[in-house]
Order: sequence, then structure tokens, then C-alpha cells
Amino acid sequence: MAVQKPDGTQDMLPNEALFWDHFKSTAWDIFSRYGYQPIETPLFEQTDLFVRGIGESTDVVSKEMFQTISGNNMAKLASYAIDHHDELAQLPTSEDRAQQMVSGALKNKSRLSMRPEGTAGTVRAIAQHGLITQGGAPVKLMYAGPMFRAERPQKGRQRQFNQVGVECLGAEDASIDAEGIIMLMRFYREIGIPVQSTRLLLNSIGCASCRPAYRKALKDYLLAHADFLCDDCVRRADINPLRAFDCKNPECQKVMEHAPRITDYLCDDCRAHYHAVTSYLDAQGITYSEDPTLVRGLDYYTRTVFEIQVDNGMGSQNAIGGGGRYDGLMKEIGGTACPGFGFALGYERCALALSAVGIEPKESPKSDLYVACVDAVEKPLAFNLVQALRDAGISADMDHQDRSLKSQFKQAGKMGVRLTVVIGPDEVAAGVVKLRDMSDHSERDLALDATMNYLGDHADAHDLSVEDLLA
Ligand code: AMP
Repeated sequence: MAVQKPDGTQDMLPNEALFWDHFKSTAWDIFSRYGYQPIETPLFEQTDLFVRGIGESTDVVSKEMFQTISGNNMAKLASYAIDHHDELAQLPTSEDRAQQMVSGALKNKSRLSMRPEGTAGTVRAIAQHGLITQGGAPVKLMYAGPMFRAERPQKGRQRQFNQVGVECLGAEDASIDAEGIIMLMRFYREIGIPVQSTRLLLNSIGCASCRPAYRKALKDYLLAHADFLCDDCVRRADINPLRAFDCKNPECQKVMEHAPRITDYLCDDCRAHYHAVTSYLDAQGITYSEDPTLVRGLDYYTRTVFEIQVDNGMGSQNAIGGGGRYDGLMKEIGGTACPGFGFALGYERCALALSAVGIEPKESPKSDLYVACVDAVEKPLAFNLVQALRDAGISADMDHQDRSLKSQFKQAGKMGVRLTVVIGPDEVAAGVVKLRDMSDHSERDLALDATMNYLGDHADAHDLSVEDLLA
């Protein structure tokens, strides 16, 4: 069998790739009105960035990261395994042995992972390039591109998927959170996801001063209910009890229904911040549901967290976007402490939500105009005409396979062109070409020299449209 694409990846065929472009440009158009500018960061980063930023105990970091190992480093790992065989054999699990090999054999700089999300890399770039200048905060950046998570593939859950996201660094004010959420809801509306099919969930998960007391209360609760929890959640009680809210196990979910709520533990500042966010949203008529169990899967969040879900019949794969505030992330990755806010939305899940309301990637015409020749002898003339059309800004194509005239018309039809130009011996003798409007089959002659001159006059401006030829 021919080689297939890897599981959990998707080929974007031309109409889908065009749809992705439209998706991004709609986002750019809206987000730039809010002062966001584009940034592109590497598809892989030092593993340490994600471990420190997203959190070692999160599923994303502990289970789902694609670590990349070059051939050279593979050899270092093999040598390390041979030299430290006895030491490694004493470690309890194969995961522990693998971890030890990677950290023992490779320097920080060589431990690399494909990015599972865009925030950590963007915040790293902001710190590395000193983008937050005196008096210049906040810095607002937007990105779009593939993310990689080694999850079990299913509909709406891929191993390589695309996100559009924004990050705003340097402002703690609740107005940033509110404008971000409003901007995201506007995007969904403009791209075509009906507001009534979306659900905006909102919560505050507190800050470094009020979360510890909550963590303690939650840990005590989890340990008191350990008999009813899965092994992962019992382990989470110690490492990161908030993660238990994300557990998909129905028994654990039942226990978590009665778990202590963060909202009862918020300090006055966090409470005021949350109240300010909701007041801004209320004033703009944004509908949301407050969900005190919403904690989201990444450790860096503080205060505001939110998620947008759709009714798409895909169960837990119904989140089409989410984000929140991360006031401690910049410091965590080694930069100067600086508050932050951001969100990411998943392109593939939005595409599914759009498909559910009948919006699909459209086939688009490959060219506006086709130049057909009656005989091969007219081909050089056709070739020059096609180049002149393209130079002037009109998308045009011709036959490259010595097709008969009939087959050329067929190809033009398949391409969905608006106009076909026909050049034959009679036309050449008369110094004209025939221009056929494919919508009503009307034909007219165009003087060849005048047409070439006209196109030549627009060669550098390349601003002609197909309508100009009909005019
Ligand atoms: P997260 O970075 O986990 O907050 O995810 C933000 C958005 O990315 C989610 O709301 C989804 O729309 C999308 N997303 C996350 N993981 C996947 C995945 N494995 N496959 C497809 N989309 C995803």
C-alpha cells in the first residue's frame, strides 16, 4: 500500500487550505482592530519551556508532548543507556528510565519538543526580544499555525491541529480580559458560527495568594474520597489537585460535583477583578455561564479562565476555544514578572461547527480565464497572451497537454473559468482573438495587438480584473 499520512494528522486539500486562509484573514482583520500584531515562533522549542510554563504535571506535558530527537542525540541516548545500565534498571517505571536518559544524556538546549500550544513560545519571544518597552505595554500579539499533541485521535481531536491565538502582555486590568472575550465572540459570529449554538463558560481560579488555601481544601477533599477516585486523580491530589476537575472518569466526575469551589476561596482582589470582567461583559450584552468547576488543563492560568463550547454532538470534543489570564507565566519561564492574558481557538473544531450549520469549504475556480488554441501553431501566441494576462493581474491558464479544441473547452469548463479566449488560424489571419463569456456563451472579437498593448500597459500595475476585458 502507498504510504499514508500519520494518524491524527490531516491533509488540507486546496479548498480546505483556502478556507483556512479565509479563517486566518478574518481573525487578522478583527484582531488587528483591537491592536494585535502578528508573530511567528518556532514549531519546536526547548522542552524546558513547556515544562516550566505549562506545568510538568499537566496531561499536555506529561503525556502528550512530541519530543524531537535528532540522529546525533539518539546516539548519545544509546551510549548513556549502555553506560548507566545498572542505575537505570533500578528506576521503577520505563517512563522514569526514559526521563532519566533524556535528562542525563542531553543538555537543556538539545531537549526539544514540538509546541503543544502557542502561549509559552510567544511569551518566550516577548521576553527574549524585550518587546515590552517602558510605557509601551501592553504588547498584543496574534499567531496562527499547527500545534502538536500526542492524543488518541478521534473526530475533533488530532495530533497535529491548527490554532489561532492571541497574547496580551503587560496589563492586569480586567478590561483586557473582557475585550479579549468580546473579540473572540465577534470572530465566531463573523466566521459564521451562530451565537445561539455557542456557550461561553467563565470562572476565576484565583491567584498565588488565594489559590494555596483552595488547593489545600481540594487536596483534603480528594484524599478523603480517594476510594472513589481513579489512580490518576489520587496522584493528582498531591501534585495538582485542580486537574481532578478535568478527569473524564464518570466516578471521579461524580465526586468532583461536590468538591470545594474556588469561588468560595477567592481573595478580595481576585473577586473584584472577576466582578469587573463580568461587568464589562454585561455592559456589552455578552451572555456567559459562570462555571466554578472550569479550571482548564494548563497550570499557568490565574484569575480569569473561559471556554467556548458548541453543541456539535462530539461530547468532550466540543470546546472550540478557550483561554484566560496568566499573570505568573513570564516569571516562570525566566522573564521579568509581567501579567498576561490570551486565548486560542481550534480551527478544525470550528470547521466542524461551521459544517454543522452548512458552511463548508467551497471549491473555487482555479483560473478566471482559459486560452484555447485551434492548432498547435497558435500555441506560442497563446503562451504570450497567458503571461500578459497574469502580469496584468488576471488569473489565466492554457492547455499544456496538446488537447484537442473540444478537450480544451472541457478543461475550461472543469476549471470553472468565466471567460475563454479562442485563437485559431482565422483569428490570426484577421488579427483578432475570440472572447467567449462562459455564463451566456456570448462571443466577441478582440483586436490582438490592441489587447496585448492594453495588457502591457497594466503589466506592472497588475490591477486588471476579468470584468475589464468584458468592458
Ligand atoms: P487549549 O490549548 O487546550 O486551551 O485548546 C484551545 C483550543 O484548541 C480548544 O478549544 C480546541 O478547539 C483546540 N484543540 C485543543 N486540542 C486539540 C486537538 N487535539 N485536536 C483538535 N483541536 C484541539
